[in-house]
Amino acid sequence: MKKHNFSAGPCILPQEVLKKASEAVINFNGLDLSLIEISHRSKDFVDVMEQARELALEHLGLQNKGYKALFLQGGASLEFLMVAFNLLEKKAAYLNTGTWSDKAIKEARLLGEVVEVASSKDANFNYIPKGYTISNDVDYFHCTSNNTIFGTQMHEFPETTVPLVCDMSSDIFSRVLDFSKFDLIYAGAQKNMGPAGTTLVVVKEEILGQVSRKIPSMLDYSVHISKDSMFNTPAVFPVYVSMLTLVWLKELGGVSTIEKINKQKAALLYSEIDRNPLFQGFVANKEDRSKMNATFNLTRAELKEPFDTILKTAGINGLNGHRSVGGYRASMYNALPVESVQVLVDTLKELERIA
Ligand SMILES: *Cc1c(COP(=O)(O)O)cnc(C)c1O
Repeated sequence: MKKHNFSAGPCILPQEVLKKASEAVINFNGLDLSLIEISHRSKDFVDVMEQARELALEHLGLQNKGYKALFLQGGASLEFLMVAFNLLEKKAAYLNTGTWSDKAIKEARLLGEVVEVASSKDANFNYIPKGYTISNDVDYFHCTSNNTIFGTQMHEFPETTVPLVCDMSSDIFSRVLDFSKFDLIYAGAQKNMGPAGTTLVVVKEEILGQVSRKIPSMLDYSVHISKDSMFNTPAVFPVYVSMLTLVWLKELGGVSTIEKINKQKAALLYSEIDRNPLFQGFVANKEDRSKMNATFNLTRAELKEPFDTILKTAGINGLNGHRSVGGYRASMYNALPVESVQVLVDTLKELERIA
């Protein structure tokens, strides 16, 4: 039986997506050829790319609104740099809510001035700073919607007149937002969409072309847009699997349906963490908790061994916390069934029973 997979990334994908993907590796579209051994310029693959780009915009409600969707390579980590290459003329504002924001800031500083409008580094990123101001003279504002490592999530986004850029790697397609408030969204596929190897970038075209520097072709969003995300050989398999996941999501009822399920899963786990005296959540303010990654620890360290044994017996995978936080982290991405969360909740109860 398949394990209950709480891995933070790469992470769980829908079982039917994995099945279809594995079939396409052997025989794609009945062509008697593998998906990964045909030209990316063949009609069959071009259709995959077009469908993936279209579905991404559709799920975000951004069709016909001046946005383009791209499937690039280099991970979200390359976007830290690409965003700055394409948008940073003099000065940009960044909100620092964790390791990923920190890394984004480091890359942007290679190309211009970065103002950190606020940071929760002082408390090991266990909260989301609020009440900061973004001055009107910056080229853009950058934030991270969900902090995969620390288990915090932005539930409100600032009103600003400057372009809003967001790393949504670990909560893209998990909840309804007014995505038209954002000018550039990027997300590595391997948290909520597909295998590692491709990164979704959704960009409002009008914000491009404003910087004076020369941009290397591979780092230039405009080049990728002009070539329909096929400037060079795309990551054909990750794009295909991402497309299948986006189809799966559509058939399920779309982002609004998955949001309800995600809320249900998060409520189930957090209510047990709050009730059970043997566990404590890592995040300081409940309103900052992530519905994707729940971070928690034991209140009695000596229970680690028995708890880990219970987890193993229950078939739970990927629950170890990131080394910078410790404890446990339950990643409850779109494809994780409610039943898996119930199994996890039962293990917390089981520890209480035997302790
Ligand atoms: C995982 C993650 C990244 C890094 O993604 P790569 O694809 O490994 O470069 C960046 N930002 C967030 C929020 C993440 O969760």
